[in-house]
Amino acid sequence: MTSLPLIPVDPDARARRAAMPPRHLADLDLAGRRALVAELGEPAFRAKQVSTHYFGRLVRDPRQMTDLPAATRGTFAEHLLPTLLTPVRELACDDGATRKALWRLHDGSLVESVLMGYPDRVTVCISSQAGCGMACPFCATGQAGLTRNLSTAEIVDQAVYLAGVAASGAVAGSPPRLSHVVFMGMGEPLANYSRVVAAIRRLVAPAPEGLGLSQRHITVSTVGLVPAIRRLASEDLSVTLALSLHAPDDDLRDELVPVNQRWKVAEVLDAAWDYAARTGRRVSIEYAMIKNVNDQPWRADLLGRLLAGKLAHVNLIPLNPTPGSRWDASPKPVEREFVRRLRDAGVSTTVRDTRGREIDGACGQLAAAEDRDTDRAGETA
Ligand code: SAH
Repeated sequence: MTSLPLIPVDPDARARRAAMPPRHLADLDLAGRRALVAELGEPAFRAKQVSTHYFGRLVRDPRQMTDLPAATRGTFAEHLLPTLLTPVRELACDDGATRKALWRLHDGSLVESVLMGYPDRVTVCISSQAGCGMACPFCATGQAGLTRNLSTAEIVDQAVYLAGVAASGAVAGSPPRLSHVVFMGMGEPLANYSRVVAAIRRLVAPAPEGLGLSQRHITVSTVGLVPAIRRLASEDLSVTLALSLHAPDDDLRDELVPVNQRWKVAEVLDAAWDYAARTGRRVSIEYAMIKNVNDQPWRADLLGRLLAGKLAHVNLIPLNPTPGSRWDASPKPVEREFVRRLRDAGVSTTVRDTRGREIDGACGQLAAAEDRDTDRAGETA
């Protein structure tokens, strides 16, 4: 007997199948939408009308845009509002204040986003890529590699969908308006630079061109792609930059954040300080606390020396568990000593209030697999 598979194994199948989606109105600014609407043979004012539905009222389904003639709705459904995200599952915890959505994209790729409601704000954590190519060993997303970049509209549509969830009053005890967006979901946002910057422009443009969020309420988190950080500093944007540092020394950072082999700690911090100087925005330094790996007092002191006097804030993240990881979170007393040493060095430091761990929705846990997360309490779809 031979054991040849019936279907030939094709290692490139996934990459070949993965394809960018059709164009959507959120890919375009208002002028671009007007031009497209004219090309479709519709009066120019329809561009604003359809934008008001999508960005102003958070209506994503053309069938609900009942003030448009039926034929126009059909044309727009095909050419301006193709379905980009199909919800596969929504999980909730924290009494509904934290919700994770799993989407299937048009080519079958899967991505996740997370909504977090607080008494004074609503934050969504969105994905910029399906998978991630940065291979940080403590992050679940990095383990399966990169499938593809998301389009601008695929990025924006996550925020618009979840803004609609917030507006429906589903997040009890939180304001109904989405206020904050963090690019801390799946993917490395600066590796999908032009689409991410266009998505930021849609998020901050006033309605009906965009969602009208404040630039200060948008955070782009990066492993530290130095040329892209410098390019971002030269855009006329002043979003918050978060740098995933995780180690103050190159020996350890080379392992924890492999891109450090290309751009070293000193170089990436230089780029971060230039960003802070050009935008006036304090840079957020992300540091996952990993037991006996990066949590030693001497590393706190070294980090303190690197950051003292800079426009920086340290966000310590208790390491979240990921499948197959050999690492654990630091014990609380170790974490407290780390915080104490940084503050003694004059560095503003907080420990992140981690949300969504029980639904694998916390930092580094987004892996977008359909076969996980079943039989969980709080499943909502
Ligand atoms: N690629 C970008 C954005 C996505 S990750 C980046 O790396 O910055 C968002 C944050 O979660 C990053 O700071 C990342 O290092 C951190 N993170 C990843 N895995 C984690 C884990 N298991 N526990 C805690 N934080 C983690």
